[in-house]
Amino acid sequence: MTDADPYAELRNEMVERQIRARGISDPRVLAAMRKVPRHLFVPPAYERSAYQDSPLPIGEGQTISQPYIVAVMTELLELNPEDTVLEVGTGSGYQAAILAELAARVISIERLPSVAENARENLERVGVTNVEVTVGDGTKGYPAEAPYDGIIITAATPSIPEPLIDQLAEGGRLVAPTGAREFQELVRLVRRDGAVERTSFGGVCFVPLIGQYGWHGAE
Ligand code: SAM
Repeated sequence: MTDADPYAELRNEMVERQIRARGISDPRVLAAMRKVPRHLFVPPAYERSAYQDSPLPIGEGQTISQPYIVAVMTELLELNPEDTVLEVGTGSGYQAAILAELAARVISIERLPSVAENARENLERVGVTNVEVTVGDGTKGYPAEAPYDGIIITAATPSIPEPLIDQLAEGGRLVAPTGAREFQELVRLVRRDGAVERTSFGGVCFVPLIGQYGWHGAE
C-alpha cells in the first residue's frame, strides 16, 4: 500500500474534509485512513466514487460503509498495536484493512461465502497479511481465538449478541450499530472489572446482521 497512486490526493481530501473536520483526532486512525486504498475495495464500476462521503454497493445487497463511519467506529475501539480484534461483517474487507493497521491481528467473519472470498482477494491485493477472513454466523463470535481486545459489528443488530459480550477481554471494547432494522444507535460496551459499561454515540444506518443472535431473515 503506497501513496503513489492516482487516488492519493482524493484520499487525503477525504480524511481532511470528511473525517478530521468532523472531529476524528486519533493520529493512528487518521494515518490508517490516509494509507488504505479504499478504491481497491469497491467494485470497478464504483472506483471513481470510492472517496465520496457515502456508503457504496459491493454486491449481494451489501455495502462498504461511509468512510466517516468507519473512522468513528475505529476510533471508538481505542486499539493498541498488540491487540487482537474480531470484526463481524467483513463485507469488502476495507474496515478489516483499517483495523489491520492499528492492531496485531484481525479475525473477520462474513456470512456470505462469495462476499468473504472477494474480501480475501481485496486484502491480498493490497498486501494485508494480518487479517483472517472466515465464513460463518458472526453473531456467535469466534470462540477459538477469544477473548478479544476489540470487537466491531459492522451490521445492524437488534441487541448486542451475548456470545460476543462473553468473548470480550477484560478492558476490551465492543462497538456496534444497535436498534431497529432501519435505523440504529452506535453503541460501545467496555468490560471493566467484570461489569459492562454501555455508552451511545448517535444515529447510524446499517444493513442487518442476520443470524442466531441477530435478525432472523434476510428479507
Ligand atoms: N465492514 C464492511 C466493509 O468494510 O466493507 C462492511 C460491512 S456490510 C455494511 C455488513 C456485512 O455484514 C455484509 O457483508 C453482510 O453479509 C454481513 N453479515 C450480516 N450478518 C452477518 C452475520 N451473522 N455474520 C457475519 N456477517 C454478517
